[in-house]
Amino acid sequence: MSTHTTEQGFNNVRKLITDICERMKISETCRIRLMECERELTVHFPVKMDDGRAEVFTGFRVVHNDSRGPSKGGIRYHPDVNLDEVRALAALMSLKTAVVNIPYGGAKGAVICNPKTMSESELERLTRRYASEIAIIMGPERDIPAPDVGTNPQIMAWIMDTYSMGKGYSVPAVVTGKPLEIGGSIGRFEATGRGCMVDALLAAKHLRIDPRKATIVVQGCGNVGAVTADLLAKEGCRVIAISDSKGGVYNPDGLNLGDVLNHKQQTGSVIGSRNTEKVTNAELLELKCDILVVAALERALVKANAPALKARIVLEGANAPTTPEADKILLDKGIFIVPDILANAGGVIVSYLEWVQGLQSFYWDETEVNDYLGRLMTDAFNQVLCISKEKRTDMRTAACMVAVQRLATAMATRGIFP
Ligand code: NAD
Repeated sequence: MSTHTTEQGFNNVRKLITDICERMKISETCRIRLMECERELTVHFPVKMDDGRAEVFTGFRVVHNDSRGPSKGGIRYHPDVNLDEVRALAALMSLKTAVVNIPYGGAKGAVICNPKTMSESELERLTRRYASEIAIIMGPERDIPAPDVGTNPQIMAWIMDTYSMGKGYSVPAVVTGKPLEIGGSIGRFEATGRGCMVDALLAAKHLRIDPRKATIVVQGCGNVGAVTADLLAKEGCRVIAISDSKGGVYNPDGLNLGDVLNHKQQTGSVIGSRNTEKVTNAELLELKCDILVVAALERALVKANAPALKARIVLEGANAPTTPEADKILLDKGIFIVPDILANAGGVIVSYLEWVQGLQSFYWDETEVNDYLGRLMTDAFNQVLCISKEKRTDMRTAACMVAVQRLATAMATRGIFP
Protein backbone atom coordinates (compact mmCIF):
# COMPACT_ATOMS: atom_id res chain seq x y z
CA MET A 1 0.00 0.00 0.00
CA SER A 2 1.44 3.36 -0.84
CA THR A 3 0.51 6.89 -1.69
CA HIS A 4 3.70 6.84 -3.76
CA THR A 5 2.24 6.31 -7.06
CA THR A 6 2.77 9.24 -9.32
CA GLU A 7 5.65 7.68 -11.23
CA GLN A 8 3.32 5.05 -12.59
CA GLY A 9 0.39 7.37 -12.81
CA PHE A 10 -3.26 7.26 -12.14
CA ASN A 11 -3.61 3.47 -12.32
CA ASN A 12 -1.53 3.11 -9.18
CA VAL A 13 -3.76 5.56 -7.31
CA ARG A 14 -6.76 3.59 -8.53
CA LYS A 15 -5.21 0.40 -7.18
CA LEU A 16 -4.49 2.08 -3.87
CA ILE A 17 -8.09 3.28 -3.55
CA THR A 18 -9.49 -0.10 -4.66
CA ASP A 19 -7.40 -1.94 -2.05
CA ILE A 20 -8.61 0.40 0.68
CA CYS A 21 -12.25 0.12 -0.49
CA GLU A 22 -12.04 -3.68 -0.41
CA ARG A 23 -10.45 -3.70 3.01
CA MET A 24 -13.07 -1.31 4.39
CA LYS A 25 -16.03 -2.80 2.53
CA ILE A 26 -16.80 0.55 0.90
CA SER A 27 -19.73 0.37 -1.54
CA GLU A 28 -19.00 -0.45 -5.16
CA THR A 29 -20.82 2.75 -6.18
CA CYS A 30 -18.33 4.87 -4.24
CA ARG A 31 -15.36 2.86 -5.45
CA ILE A 32 -16.19 3.18 -9.15
CA ARG A 33 -16.80 6.91 -8.72
CA LEU A 34 -13.34 7.30 -7.19
CA MET A 35 -11.82 5.37 -10.12
CA GLU A 36 -12.41 8.32 -12.47
CA CYS A 37 -11.71 12.03 -12.37
CA GLU A 38 -14.99 13.95 -12.41
CA ARG A 39 -13.84 16.65 -14.81
CA GLU A 40 -10.87 16.86 -17.15
CA LEU A 41 -10.04 19.83 -19.28
CA THR A 42 -7.23 19.79 -21.85
CA VAL A 43 -6.40 23.07 -23.54
CA HIS A 44 -4.08 23.91 -26.42
CA PHE A 45 -3.45 27.61 -26.61
CA PRO A 46 -1.14 30.05 -28.40
CA VAL A 47 1.28 32.38 -26.64
CA LYS A 48 3.21 35.22 -28.28
CA MET A 49 6.89 34.68 -27.52
CA ASP A 50 9.42 37.51 -27.09
CA ASP A 51 10.94 36.89 -30.56
CA GLY A 52 7.58 37.50 -32.25
CA ARG A 53 6.75 33.85 -32.94
CA ALA A 54 3.63 32.20 -31.56
CA GLU A 55 3.97 28.88 -29.74
CA VAL A 56 1.14 26.50 -28.90
CA PHE A 57 1.20 25.11 -25.36
CA THR A 58 -0.83 22.30 -23.82
CA GLY A 59 -2.37 22.61 -20.37
CA PHE A 60 -4.69 20.61 -18.14
CA ARG A 61 -7.01 21.13 -15.21
CA VAL A 62 -8.40 17.99 -13.65
CA VAL A 63 -10.93 17.70 -10.84
CA HIS A 64 -10.85 14.26 -9.25
CA ASN A 65 -13.66 14.58 -6.73
CA ASP A 66 -15.62 17.47 -5.26
CA SER A 67 -18.04 15.63 -2.96
CA ARG A 68 -16.57 17.27 0.16
CA GLY A 69 -16.38 20.81 -1.22
CA PRO A 70 -14.80 22.88 -3.99
CA SER A 71 -11.78 21.21 -5.54
CA LYS A 72 -8.29 22.30 -4.55
CA GLY A 73 -4.86 21.64 -6.00
CA GLY A 74 -1.75 23.22 -7.39
CA ILE A 75 -0.69 24.14 -10.90
CA ARG A 76 2.57 22.65 -12.14
CA TYR A 77 4.71 24.10 -14.94
CA HIS A 78 7.06 21.37 -16.12
CA PRO A 79 8.31 20.10 -19.51
CA ASP A 80 7.54 16.42 -18.70
CA VAL A 81 4.11 16.74 -17.11
CA ASN A 82 1.24 14.78 -18.70
CA LEU A 83 -2.47 14.19 -18.21
CA ASP A 84 -2.00 10.87 -16.43
CA GLU A 85 0.31 12.46 -13.84
CA VAL A 86 -2.15 15.31 -13.33
CA ARG A 87 -4.97 12.80 -12.74
CA ALA A 88 -2.85 10.94 -10.18
CA LEU A 89 -1.92 14.15 -8.37
CA ALA A 90 -5.56 15.33 -8.41
CA ALA A 91 -6.68 12.06 -6.80
CA LEU A 92 -3.95 12.36 -4.15
CA MET A 93 -5.27 15.85 -3.39
CA SER A 94 -8.73 14.35 -2.75
CA LEU A 95 -7.09 12.03 -0.21
CA LYS A 96 -4.96 14.82 1.34
CA THR A 97 -7.83 17.26 1.88
CA ALA A 98 -9.95 14.42 3.28
CA VAL A 99 -7.34 13.12 5.71
CA VAL A 100 -6.87 16.55 7.30
CA ASN A 101 -10.62 17.10 7.10
CA ILE A 102 -10.79 20.43 5.29
CA PRO A 103 -13.93 21.01 3.19
CA TYR A 104 -12.32 20.57 -0.21
CA GLY A 105 -12.12 18.06 -3.00
CA GLY A 106 -9.00 17.31 -5.03
CA ALA A 107 -7.73 18.81 -8.28
CA LYS A 108 -4.51 19.52 -10.12
CA GLY A 109 -3.47 21.58 -13.11
CA ALA A 110 -0.43 21.77 -15.32
CA VAL A 111 1.08 23.36 -18.40
CA ILE A 112 3.71 21.51 -20.41
CA CYS A 113 6.46 24.14 -20.51
CA ASN A 114 9.88 24.87 -19.09
CA PRO A 115 9.53 27.98 -16.91
CA LYS A 116 13.32 28.09 -16.43
CA THR A 117 13.86 28.94 -20.11
CA MET A 118 11.01 31.46 -20.42
CA SER A 119 11.21 35.20 -19.79
CA GLU A 120 9.04 36.86 -17.14
CA SER A 121 6.79 38.40 -19.80
CA GLU A 122 6.40 35.09 -21.67
CA LEU A 123 5.45 33.42 -18.39
CA GLU A 124 2.92 36.16 -17.69
CA ARG A 125 1.29 35.79 -21.13
CA LEU A 126 1.26 31.99 -20.82
CA THR A 127 -0.27 32.18 -17.35
CA ARG A 128 -2.95 34.70 -18.30
CA ARG A 129 -4.00 32.71 -21.36
CA TYR A 130 -4.01 29.40 -19.45
CA ALA A 131 -6.07 31.06 -16.68
CA SER A 132 -8.66 32.28 -19.19
CA GLU A 133 -8.78 28.82 -20.81
CA ILE A 134 -9.53 27.09 -17.49
CA ALA A 135 -11.76 29.89 -16.14
CA ILE A 136 -14.84 27.89 -17.20
CA ILE A 137 -14.19 25.41 -14.40
CA MET A 138 -12.29 27.63 -11.94
CA GLY A 139 -13.86 29.81 -9.23
CA PRO A 140 -13.83 30.48 -5.50
CA GLU A 141 -16.79 28.16 -4.97
CA ARG A 142 -15.73 25.71 -7.65
CA ASP A 143 -12.06 24.97 -8.10
CA ILE A 144 -9.24 26.88 -6.47
CA PRO A 145 -5.66 26.55 -7.80
CA ALA A 146 -2.43 27.12 -5.84
CA PRO A 147 1.30 27.01 -6.60
CA ASP A 148 3.12 23.73 -7.25
CA VAL A 149 6.43 22.77 -8.89
CA GLY A 150 7.44 25.55 -11.32
CA THR A 151 4.83 28.09 -10.19
CA ASN A 152 4.93 30.72 -7.45
CA PRO A 153 2.98 33.56 -5.76
CA GLN A 154 3.52 35.91 -8.73
CA ILE A 155 1.92 33.39 -11.08
CA MET A 156 -1.02 33.10 -8.65
CA ALA A 157 -1.32 36.92 -8.75
CA TRP A 158 -1.60 36.85 -12.57
CA ILE A 159 -4.25 34.12 -12.39
CA MET A 160 -6.21 36.08 -9.78
CA ASP A 161 -5.98 39.26 -11.87
CA THR A 162 -6.99 37.52 -15.11
CA TYR A 163 -9.99 35.84 -13.47
CA SER A 164 -10.99 39.11 -11.76
CA MET A 165 -10.84 41.04 -15.06
CA GLY A 166 -13.27 38.52 -16.56
CA LYS A 167 -15.65 39.03 -13.66
CA GLY A 168 -15.30 42.81 -13.46
CA TYR A 169 -14.37 42.82 -9.77
CA SER A 170 -11.55 41.43 -7.59
CA VAL A 171 -11.90 37.79 -6.61
CA PRO A 172 -9.00 37.04 -4.24
CA ALA A 173 -10.43 33.66 -3.15
CA VAL A 174 -10.05 32.16 -6.65
CA VAL A 175 -6.42 31.13 -5.93
CA THR A 176 -4.29 30.62 -2.85
CA GLY A 177 -0.57 31.04 -2.33
CA LYS A 178 -0.94 34.67 -3.46
CA PRO A 179 1.45 37.45 -2.43
CA LEU A 180 0.46 38.98 0.93
CA GLU A 181 -0.28 42.37 -0.69
CA ILE A 182 -3.26 40.98 -2.63
CA GLY A 183 -4.81 38.70 -0.04
CA GLY A 184 -2.22 36.02 0.66
CA SER A 185 -2.12 34.63 4.16
CA ILE A 186 0.54 35.25 6.72
CA GLY A 187 2.23 31.92 7.43
CA ARG A 188 1.55 30.39 3.99
CA PHE A 189 5.23 30.34 3.02
CA GLU A 190 6.23 28.39 6.14
CA ALA A 191 3.03 26.33 6.31
CA THR A 192 4.22 23.02 4.87
CA GLY A 193 7.42 23.03 6.95
CA ARG A 194 5.49 24.04 10.05
CA GLY A 195 3.08 21.15 9.51
CA CYS A 196 6.04 18.78 9.08
CA MET A 197 7.51 20.08 12.35
CA VAL A 198 4.21 19.43 14.17
CA ASP A 199 4.01 15.87 12.82
CA ALA A 200 7.69 15.19 13.55
CA LEU A 201 7.18 16.12 17.21
CA LEU A 202 3.99 14.05 17.43
CA ALA A 203 5.75 11.04 15.90
CA ALA A 204 8.67 11.48 18.33
CA LYS A 205 6.26 11.65 21.25
CA HIS A 206 4.52 8.49 20.06
CA LEU A 207 7.87 6.65 20.02
CA ARG A 208 8.84 8.23 23.36
CA ILE A 209 11.73 10.14 21.83
CA ASP A 210 12.57 13.30 23.76
CA PRO A 211 12.65 16.15 21.19
CA ARG A 212 15.56 17.76 23.06
CA LYS A 213 17.59 14.63 22.49
CA ALA A 214 16.27 13.89 18.99
CA THR A 215 18.65 13.95 16.04
CA ILE A 216 17.29 15.11 12.70
CA VAL A 217 18.52 14.64 9.12
CA VAL A 218 16.85 16.61 6.34
CA GLN A 219 17.02 15.82 2.63
CA GLY A 220 16.24 18.97 0.62
CA CYS A 221 16.95 22.53 1.64
CA GLY A 222 14.09 24.27 -0.16
CA ASN A 223 10.81 25.67 1.08
CA VAL A 224 9.76 22.51 2.92
CA GLY A 225 13.15 21.18 4.09
CA ALA A 226 14.71 24.44 5.25
CA VAL A 227 11.63 25.57 7.19
CA THR A 228 11.16 22.14 8.81
CA ALA A 229 14.84 22.03 9.85
CA ASP A 230 14.74 25.56 11.22
CA LEU A 231 11.54 25.02 13.23
CA LEU A 232 12.70 21.67 14.62
CA ALA A 233 15.97 23.28 15.72
CA LYS A 234 13.93 26.00 17.47
CA GLU A 235 12.06 23.21 19.30
CA GLY A 236 15.40 22.01 20.67
CA CYS A 237 16.06 19.14 18.28
CA ARG A 238 19.58 18.58 16.97
CA VAL A 239 19.64 18.91 13.18
CA ILE A 240 22.81 17.04 12.26
CA ALA A 241 22.65 17.07 8.44
CA ILE A 242 20.89 18.75 5.56
CA SER A 243 21.32 18.55 1.79
CA ASP A 244 20.42 20.16 -1.50
CA SER A 245 20.78 18.83 -5.04
CA LYS A 246 24.57 19.37 -4.93
CA GLY A 247 25.19 17.39 -1.72
CA GLY A 248 24.89 17.66 2.03
CA VAL A 249 26.57 18.97 5.19
CA TYR A 250 26.97 17.15 8.48
CA ASN A 251 27.91 18.01 12.05
CA PRO A 252 27.18 15.37 14.70
CA ASP A 253 26.98 18.08 17.38
CA GLY A 254 24.24 19.91 15.46
CA LEU A 255 24.35 22.37 12.57
CA ASN A 256 24.08 26.10 13.03
CA LEU A 257 21.11 26.44 10.67
CA GLY A 258 21.38 30.22 10.43
CA ASP A 259 24.90 29.75 9.05
CA VAL A 260 23.87 26.97 6.69
CA LEU A 261 20.90 28.86 5.25
CA ASN A 262 22.95 32.05 4.85
CA HIS A 263 25.66 30.09 3.09
CA LYS A 264 23.08 28.57 0.76
CA GLN A 265 21.64 31.98 0.00
CA GLN A 266 25.06 33.41 -0.80
CA THR A 267 26.57 30.50 -2.74
CA GLY A 268 23.56 28.55 -3.98
CA SER A 269 24.54 25.46 -1.97
CA VAL A 270 24.81 24.29 1.62
CA ILE A 271 28.22 22.76 0.91
CA GLY A 272 31.15 24.53 2.58
CA SER A 273 29.19 26.18 5.38
CA ARG A 274 31.14 26.75 8.59
CA ASN A 275 31.89 23.85 10.98
CA THR A 276 30.44 21.20 8.74
CA GLU A 277 31.78 18.22 6.86
CA LYS A 278 30.55 17.30 3.43
CA VAL A 279 28.42 14.20 2.84
CA THR A 280 27.06 12.92 -0.42
CA ASN A 281 23.32 12.74 -0.97
CA ALA A 282 23.48 8.96 -0.70
CA GLU A 283 25.48 9.08 2.55
CA LEU A 284 23.08 11.58 4.10
CA LEU A 285 20.13 9.22 3.79
CA GLU A 286 22.07 6.50 5.60
CA LEU A 287 23.07 8.59 8.63
CA LYS A 288 21.95 7.28 12.01
CA CYS A 289 19.26 9.62 13.35
CA ASP A 290 15.90 9.68 15.06
CA ILE A 291 14.00 11.48 12.30
CA LEU A 292 14.80 11.57 8.59
CA VAL A 293 12.79 14.27 6.81
CA VAL A 294 12.65 13.64 3.05
CA ALA A 295 11.77 16.99 1.52
CA ALA A 296 13.32 17.00 -1.95
CA LEU A 297 11.76 15.11 -4.84
CA GLU A 298 9.81 12.01 -5.72
CA ARG A 299 11.45 8.58 -5.46
CA ALA A 300 14.19 9.54 -2.99
CA LEU A 301 13.81 6.27 -1.09
CA VAL A 302 13.95 3.26 -3.39
CA LYS A 303 14.59 -0.47 -3.18
CA ALA A 304 18.35 0.08 -3.49
CA ASN A 305 18.86 2.53 -0.60
CA ALA A 306 16.00 1.63 1.76
CA PRO A 307 17.81 -1.30 3.45
CA ALA A 308 20.63 1.04 4.55
CA LEU A 309 18.42 3.60 6.33
CA LYS A 310 19.07 3.94 10.06
CA ALA A 311 16.38 6.46 11.00
CA ARG A 312 13.63 5.55 13.49
CA ILE A 313 11.10 7.84 11.83
CA VAL A 314 10.79 8.83 8.16
CA LEU A 315 8.72 11.96 7.65
CA GLU A 316 7.59 12.54 4.05
CA GLY A 317 7.75 16.29 3.47
CA ALA A 318 7.94 15.72 -0.28
CA ASN A 319 5.18 14.18 -2.35
CA ALA A 320 5.81 10.54 -3.21
CA PRO A 321 9.41 10.28 -1.91
CA THR A 322 9.17 6.52 -1.14
CA THR A 323 8.51 3.88 -3.78
CA PRO A 324 6.15 1.02 -2.85
CA GLU A 325 9.12 -1.41 -2.71
CA ALA A 326 11.06 0.89 -0.38
CA ASP A 327 7.95 1.44 1.72
CA LYS A 328 7.71 -2.29 2.41
CA ILE A 329 11.42 -2.53 3.27
CA LEU A 330 11.21 0.39 5.71
CA LEU A 331 8.11 -1.03 7.39
CA ASP A 332 9.79 -4.44 7.72
CA LYS A 333 12.71 -2.68 9.41
CA GLY A 334 10.27 -1.23 11.94
CA ILE A 335 10.66 2.38 10.76
CA PHE A 336 7.68 4.61 11.60
CA ILE A 337 6.66 6.44 8.40
CA VAL A 338 4.57 9.62 8.47
CA PRO A 339 3.10 9.56 4.93
CA ASP A 340 3.06 12.51 2.54
CA ILE A 341 -0.72 13.04 2.46
CA LEU A 342 -0.54 13.63 6.21
CA ALA A 343 2.95 15.07 6.77
CA ASN A 344 2.96 17.75 4.07
CA ALA A 345 -0.69 18.82 4.35
CA GLY A 346 0.27 22.05 6.17
CA GLY A 347 0.44 23.87 2.83
CA VAL A 348 -3.09 23.03 1.77
CA ILE A 349 -4.37 23.72 5.30
CA VAL A 350 -3.04 27.29 5.23
CA SER A 351 -4.30 27.60 1.65
CA TYR A 352 -7.71 26.78 3.09
CA LEU A 353 -7.23 29.46 5.77
CA GLU A 354 -6.18 31.95 3.06
CA TRP A 355 -9.33 31.14 1.08
CA VAL A 356 -11.54 31.57 4.16
CA GLN A 357 -9.90 34.94 4.92
CA GLY A 358 -10.35 36.04 1.28
CA LEU A 359 -14.02 35.07 1.23
CA GLN A 360 -14.80 37.06 4.36
CA SER A 361 -12.31 39.89 3.64
CA PHE A 362 -11.02 39.55 7.17
CA TYR A 363 -7.36 38.75 7.71
CA TRP A 364 -5.88 36.98 10.69
CA ASP A 365 -2.57 37.47 12.47
CA GLU A 366 0.25 34.95 12.43
CA THR A 367 -0.62 33.43 15.80
CA GLU A 368 -4.17 32.67 14.71
CA VAL A 369 -3.01 31.06 11.47
CA ASN A 370 -0.29 28.99 13.14
CA ASP A 371 -2.59 27.89 15.98
CA TYR A 372 -5.22 26.75 13.52
CA LEU A 373 -2.64 24.92 11.43
CA GLY A 374 -1.23 23.22 14.53
CA ARG A 375 -4.68 22.14 15.64
CA LEU A 376 -5.69 20.62 12.29
CA MET A 377 -2.34 18.83 11.86
CA THR A 378 -2.51 17.45 15.40
CA ASP A 379 -6.11 16.25 15.06
CA ALA A 380 -5.33 14.54 11.75
CA PHE A 381 -2.17 12.87 13.09
CA ASN A 382 -3.96 11.59 16.18
CA GLN A 383 -6.91 10.26 14.19
CA VAL A 384 -4.62 8.41 11.78
CA LEU A 385 -2.51 7.04 14.64
CA CYS A 386 -5.67 5.85 16.38
CA ILE A 387 -6.86 4.01 13.24
CA SER A 388 -3.40 2.52 12.67
CA LYS A 389 -3.47 1.06 16.20
CA GLU A 390 -7.07 -0.10 15.94
CA LYS A 391 -6.56 -1.78 12.57
CA ARG A 392 -2.99 -2.86 13.32
CA THR A 393 -1.64 -1.23 10.22
CA ASP A 394 0.94 1.35 9.17
CA MET A 395 0.31 5.10 9.11
CA ARG A 396 0.08 5.30 5.30
CA THR A 397 -2.65 2.68 5.10
CA ALA A 398 -4.42 4.26 8.07
CA ALA A 399 -4.27 7.74 6.48
CA CYS A 400 -5.77 6.38 3.26
CA MET A 401 -8.48 4.58 5.24
CA VAL A 402 -9.48 7.80 7.01
CA ALA A 403 -9.51 9.70 3.71
CA VAL A 404 -11.43 7.13 1.66
CA GLN A 405 -14.01 6.71 4.43
CA ARG A 406 -14.65 10.48 4.48
CA LEU A 407 -14.97 10.59 0.70
CA ALA A 408 -17.29 7.59 0.65
CA THR A 409 -19.50 9.01 3.39
CA ALA A 410 -19.78 12.36 1.59
CA MET A 411 -20.69 10.70 -1.71
CA ALA A 412 -23.22 8.35 -0.11
CA THR A 413 -24.82 11.16 1.90
CA ARG A 414 -25.19 13.40 -1.14
CA GLY A 415 -26.46 10.56 -3.33
CA ILE A 416 -26.48 10.59 -7.11
CA PHE A 417 -28.07 13.36 -9.17
CA PRO A 418 -30.75 13.19 -10.56
P1 NAD B 1 12.02 23.48 -3.45
O1 NAD B 1 12.30 23.50 -4.89
O2 NAD B 1 11.89 24.75 -2.68
O3 NAD B 1 13.14 22.60 -2.69
C1 NAD B 1 13.57 21.36 -3.11
C2 NAD B 1 14.96 21.14 -2.51
O4 NAD B 1 15.39 19.81 -2.78
C3 NAD B 1 16.04 22.06 -3.07
O5 NAD B 1 16.86 22.49 -2.02
C4 NAD B 1 16.83 21.13 -3.99
O6 NAD B 1 18.19 21.54 -4.15
C5 NAD B 1 16.75 19.85 -3.21
N1 NAD B 1 17.07 18.64 -3.95
C6 NAD B 1 16.74 18.32 -5.22
N2 NAD B 1 17.25 17.10 -5.51
C7 NAD B 1 17.88 16.65 -4.40
C8 NAD B 1 18.60 15.48 -4.06
N3 NAD B 1 18.76 14.49 -4.93
N4 NAD B 1 19.12 15.36 -2.82
C9 NAD B 1 18.97 16.35 -1.92
N5 NAD B 1 18.30 17.47 -2.18
C10 NAD B 1 17.77 17.63 -3.40
O7 NAD B 1 10.69 22.60 -3.29
P2 NAD B 1 9.70 22.53 -2.05
O8 NAD B 1 8.58 23.48 -2.25
O9 NAD B 1 10.48 22.55 -0.79
O10 NAD B 1 9.07 21.07 -2.29
C11 NAD B 1 9.78 19.89 -1.93
C12 NAD B 1 8.83 18.72 -2.03
O11 NAD B 1 7.72 18.94 -1.16
C13 NAD B 1 8.21 18.46 -3.41
O12 NAD B 1 8.02 17.06 -3.53
C14 NAD B 1 6.86 19.14 -3.32
O13 NAD B 1 5.92 18.57 -4.22
C15 NAD B 1 6.51 18.82 -1.89
N6 NAD B 1 5.51 19.71 -1.31
C16 NAD B 1 5.72 21.05 -1.22
C17 NAD B 1 4.78 21.87 -0.64
C18 NAD B 1 5.00 23.34 -0.49
O14 NAD B 1 4.14 24.00 0.10
N7 NAD B 1 6.11 23.88 -0.94
C19 NAD B 1 3.56 21.32 -0.17
C20 NAD B 1 3.36 19.94 -0.25
C21 NAD B 1 4.35 19.15 -0.83
